[in-house]
Amino acid sequence: MKLKMYINGEWRESSSKAIRDIINPANGEVIAQAAEGTLEDAEAAIQAARDAFDSGIWSDLPAAERASYLYKIADKLEERHKELVELEVLDNGKTRGEAEFDIEDAAVCFRYYAGLITKPAGETFDVPDPNIHSMVVREPVGVAGLVVPWNFPMLMSVWKIAPALAAGNTIVFKPAEITPVTAVKVFEIMEEVGIPAGVANMVLGEGGVIGQTIAESHDVDAISFTGSTQTGRKIMQAATGNIKKISLELGGKSPNIIFDDVDLEIAVDQALFGIFFGAGQVCVAGSRILVQEGLYDRFVERFVERAKKIKVGPGNEEDVEMGAIVSESQMNNILNYIKIGQEEGAVLAAGGKRITERGLDKGFFIEPTVFTDVTQDMRIVQEEIFGPVVTIQKFKDEKEAIELANDVDFGLAGGVFTNDGARALSVIKKLRAGITWINTYHPAFVEAPWGGYKQSGIGRGLGTYGLEDFQEVKQININLNPGMAGWFKG
Ligand code: NAD
Repeated sequence: MKLKMYINGEWRESSSKAIRDIINPANGEVIAQAAEGTLEDAEAAIQAARDAFDSGIWSDLPAAERASYLYKIADKLEERHKELVELEVLDNGKTRGEAEFDIEDAAVCFRYYAGLITKPAGETFDVPDPNIHSMVVREPVGVAGLVVPWNFPMLMSVWKIAPALAAGNTIVFKPAEITPVTAVKVFEIMEEVGIPAGVANMVLGEGGVIGQTIAESHDVDAISFTGSTQTGRKIMQAATGNIKKISLELGGKSPNIIFDDVDLEIAVDQALFGIFFGAGQVCVAGSRILVQEGLYDRFVERFVERAKKIKVGPGNEEDVEMGAIVSESQMNNILNYIKIGQEEGAVLAAGGKRITERGLDKGFFIEPTVFTDVTQDMRIVQEEIFGPVVTIQKFKDEKEAIELANDVDFGLAGGVFTNDGARALSVIKKLRAGITWINTYHPAFVEAPWGGYKQSGIGRGLGTYGLEDFQEVKQININLNPGMAGWFKG
């Protein structure tokens, strides 16, 4: 499979002719060869998006017309569901069940923003001057730069592309360099449904080159980024040149707080899902489990027992429950953190190793890993590992749970399990995080805002908030009784 870039309505190779092998993380095999874009390619894509925006070819369309393209994209995503699921599994290493959810949700997202953009927007204000009619309209920001990570290649792309296009922007999009396959398919679909040339552009390649160019360019009016906090910082700095609008969805180290009044089996089951779904390569992963002392020992015993039973393997095998780590380098990062945890003195209660048995040695697989007896200052408690590694801590009461939960630099997500409704809400309200759950973990809805406090980001994706990221708000004041200003007397 050859993957090209999509610039100004044309499929292009890299201007340097460079190519990157795209690897299946389940077996190390090359599944595709992608054009490796250059600075010049990024600039060409930005110019195409700029020209298309300035021409009004997209932003001047009635919202209902833009929406009709988005509905068609959703239909095509559904028609090609099976193919897209297979590709997502091959490219990212996730399980088929996970990929099915992602591809379905991508169609839901396009439909949601197609609907939303045709709904009433804007306001009028009752101002003190009876001659003035004051109102607000919403307009597209202009050229939107969209940069996404590798953990949900399709879904992260669509969460940005759908609202950006719905709002009337033109886009320059960059998928993660190691997982471009399904994003390329989305652009094929956009071409098929007739999105005009220049409106949607895609450049493939390295973040430090393509992403950085997009973030720096004065022809890009907004940047919406999902990825690590470290890269988010660079994007923020690069965006200062022309004071771009920025939205950042960054990393997390989310607490999952379990009180001792809950059903043990339910709590263990939900907590396993909280961390090991997506092999822990999920920004909101419940990677710090906090358990109240009365339940702690029984919880750890049962959690470890069940973690050891998780079936790890290639995502396209029927009974596999946890897939591969996305790349060799990410696998090595995770293994390094496991080593750090052991050196820090945490107790390795389960897992901890790369899996090389059962023919998995060619791929990148790590055992579900559980650390207990950790302290709050340990790096494995403070830093995002982004893999199937969880720490379990003990707490005495509500106050201590909240202190431990909030004592990290991140503030993306968090969960609370208790049968005491008032306590659940009181804890959640004290949690410094943007995405929270009570008695469940992970459900995410396109209707509700997505994003974090503290170093987990700026702004909110999804829902009405996600549309606002791609809109400017304009105040318009109309004099209903035209006449002299009368300020200057001469
Ligand atoms: P990353 O920051 O390394 O890369 C993300 C994207 O940024 C990639 O496309 C990459 O090529 C690009 N990039 C890298 N350097 C860049 C630069 N200097 N300028 C511009 N772009 C650059 O992140 P990753 O390893 O791909 O993804 C994992 C991270 O993403 C984790 O920290 C995870 O928590 C985060 N994430 C957050 C959310 C969220 O919604 N908050 C969702 C998914 C992933």
